[in-house]
Parts: sequence; C-alpha cells; structure tokens
Amino acid sequence: MNQRIFMHSSEVTAEILSMGNELLIGRTVNTNATWICRELVKLGVLPVRGVTFRDVKEEAIRVIRESIQRNPHFIFITGGLGPTFDDIQLECVAAAADLALEINSTALKWIETFYKERGYELNPAREKMALLPKGSKPLFNSVGAAPGCLLSINETSIVCLPGVPSEMKAIMSEEVIPTIREEMKARGLNFFTYGFYIKGVPESEISAVLTKLVKKYPYANFKTHPKGSEGNPILDFNIYGFTTDPTLIAQITREVKLFLRKSFPNADIGPIRVVNEEDPEVENI
Ligand code: ATP
Ligand code: MG
Repeated sequence: MNQRIFMHSSEVTAEILSMGNELLIGRTVNTNATWICRELVKLGVLPVRGVTFRDVKEEAIRVIRESIQRNPHFIFITGGLGPTFDDIQLECVAAAADLALEINSTALKWIETFYKERGYELNPAREKMALLPKGSKPLFNSVGAAPGCLLSINETSIVCLPGVPSEMKAIMSEEVIPTIREEMKARGLNFFTYGFYIKGVPESEISAVLTKLVKKYPYANFKTHPKGSEGNPILDFNIYGFTTDPTLIAQITREVKLFLRKSFPNADIGPIRVVNEEDPEVENI
C-alpha cells in the first residue's frame, strides 16, 4: 500500500544553489533558499539539496555542473544577476551547460524600458544583464532591472534568479510558480503533514521505536521536534510525504500512533492534527 502513495519515482525534485560571498561570511541570512523551499513544498516539489558557494567563477561552474549531472527536475540559482563585475551567475550557468551567451532582444527591451522610465540610457553594464545562455527564456522582473531566465537542459529546468529577495520573489511568484503549479496539478501530487504530541518520553527513548517505524513504512517520512525540557519531555511527532491521497497518510498516522501507545503505555499522546504547511515554524523571512 505504501508504495502506491510515496513512490520515489514520482517525486519531483529540486536543488537550490545560493551564490554569494556575503552568505558564507555570515553577513546575509540565506532567506532566499528557505523561501524557495517553502514555496516548492507547497507546490508538491521536493527540495533535495541546497548548496551555498562563493562568487568565484571556477567554483560556481563546478557547483552548477554537478547539479546538472544529478539530473533533478529543477535547479534554482540565486544571486549575481546584476550589472557589476562580480555578477557572474549567467556566465557560469552558460559555461556549466556548454552554451554561449547571447543578447536576448526581449530582455534587452525590458532593461531599456526600466532605465528609460528612470531617466537613464543603456550602457554596457546595463546591456550585460540581457546576455543570457543561448536558448533561455527571459523571466520578467517587475521590481528591478535584471531579468531572470529559464533554461532547459535534458530533463532539468534551470531557473536563474536575482539575489535581492524582493526581486527573486516577484519573478518566482509572477513567472515561475504559476507554471509549476499547473504542472504539479497535472501530476496530482500534494505535500501533507500529520502530527501529534507525545508527553513523557524523551527523544533518546523513542529512537529505537522510530528505527522500527522507518523500516515498517519505508516511503513515509518521520520527524520528531523536541519541545519540552529534560524533566518534562514533549515531542512533536510529524509524519509527512507527497501523495495523491491524503487519507492514506492519515491511516499510517493512526497506525503509528497505536504503535507508539503500545510501546509507551504511560505516555500522554495527543490527538492527530493536520500540520498547516502555510504556517510552519520558519523565522527570518
Ligand atoms: P544586484 O542587481 O543588486 O547586484 P544580484 O542579483 O546581483 O542583484 P547579489 O548582488 O548577489 O544579487 O545580491 C543583492 C542583494 O541581495 C544583497 O544585499 C545580498 O545580500 C542579497 N542576497 C543575495 N543572496 C541572498 C540570499 N540567498 N538570501 C537573502 N538575501 C540575499
Ligand atoms: Mg549583484
């Protein structure tokens, strides 16, 4: 039964690549990656890897090339789309995919209009933002100057995004998410999390039972979040996965709860609830 609902072959996967020295030296919190992951999970896409790397050409090309070789459905890259010398994302993407860069006329028109409206002319630094890997589709940036772009390599869609969070979110919300939502709807996959609390059992005590559960339900995902203190342990127990049928995850959750009740007869186990993915415990966004 489990195979039917948590089939790995049906997972739609994504890697999130974050470019920027400032992320690595602790000056900027990588809120872009967290925001993208949250949005993807809501859509039913599974983020499987996140990499943060410096604005150094050779390193960036290596990271992007490795991602392409792993063949995920999506690669999202943020940072380094601007007009300055250290904005090298697109030249690195082109090099990693063995493609040339060429001026995209649509992107150039957008950039020209953006600056004209603000009383500026095009110059080489501004034109540079229209240099996209050959075959890319430009993605309109309604907040800033630099367009994003979408590139398909084999089965992978590479989404190139700016580092400025408001610009990244605008392009994702207006140009990328609606398309992914349509694709995912066609597949009928959704992400569901069910949970309940367990009072009176320390996390270290539950570990052996968890190992048994993981074996019994190989396609479900389990996560315990410790909430209480040493003397008063409270665990938030979550069961999650992508499925076309949430009632089957609910069924597994009931079985797991029964199993835990038998294993810990003295524990206080709370009612099963649906965990709201719109409002998870994520800070700094
Ligand atoms: P710009 O046109 O401003 O140069 P850009 O696409 O080149 O944009 P960056 O230069 O890499 O982007 O970063 C611009 C701003 O966005 C910086 O303030 C940076 O700290 C912030 N930023 C970059 N990456 C992230 C991230 N992953 N999460 C949050 N903020 C980020
Ligand atoms: Mg920049």
